[in-house]
Amino acid sequence: MNDIVSFGYEEVARDEKTRRVGGVFSSVASRYDLMNDAMSGGMHRLWKDRFVRRVKPRAGETILDMAGGTGDIAFRLAKNGAALTVADINPAMLGVGMERARKRGIEALVWTEANAETLAFSDKSFDAYTIAFGIRNVTDIPAALREAHRVLRRGGRFFCLEFSTTQWPGFAEVYDAYSHRLVPQLGKLLAGDADSYRYLIESIRRFPDMPAFEGMIRDAGFTRTAVEPIAGGLVAIHSGWKI
Ligand code: SAM
Repeated sequence: MNDIVSFGYEEVARDEKTRRVGGVFSSVASRYDLMNDAMSGGMHRLWKDRFVRRVKPRAGETILDMAGGTGDIAFRLAKNGAALTVADINPAMLGVGMERARKRGIEALVWTEANAETLAFSDKSFDAYTIAFGIRNVTDIPAALREAHRVLRRGGRFFCLEFSTTQWPGFAEVYDAYSHRLVPQLGKLLAGDADSYRYLIESIRRFPDMPAFEGMIRDAGFTRTAVEPIAGGLVAIHSGWKI
């Protein structure tokens, strides 16, 4: 087993990556939502709306929103009456999410601390599994995908929203310059933390491209996999079924 993994552009031991990713999200938790708006010019809201439309949550379904952080996806998914469990490895992110839910009067969500690689849920517990902007931060991605497959019922669906590689000519260069130069500065200005935002950008570059990630989803046991690129693949929705 390869014991070295990427942490942004650095190569680190597995435990070290998990610890440092924890440090990143503990550091940014209180400013996370503000920074998402600042970095994406509010676009992340549209991407998340589109993602949730693809999931098509229904009343009475059970959905696990993994790496759910401050609740952005779960709040949207729960609107139609689905039963939501929000799981995240980071208590600071969950804390911000629970406070947001309290302020919005959303009481029905279950919030739980969990590592996507090793879930305590029984086999076949959920109708859908969602993970948004989370999977690239997970140390052992194949293990997390296998766990997603295990906890889904037959007929269950997997949906992942993640940054990917844009194929729009010319746009990649502009985006590269923006993300590498401006995002860490924004992070310093608004969240007092340039290094965390440097990691978040670098981790996007290290994430597998769309065909490679789709292959990983298939390797975990999912069928009828699909990829929907957004903005030429700047962001992508990957999906698959457990049958
Ligand atoms: N899904 C939320 C959203 O779209 O706004 C939060 C995304 S945030 C960029 C990434 C989240 O992944 C963080 O809350 C982080 O704690 C969580 N995370 C990282 N590694 C994880 C793991 N191994 N298991 C569960 N959550 C993890």
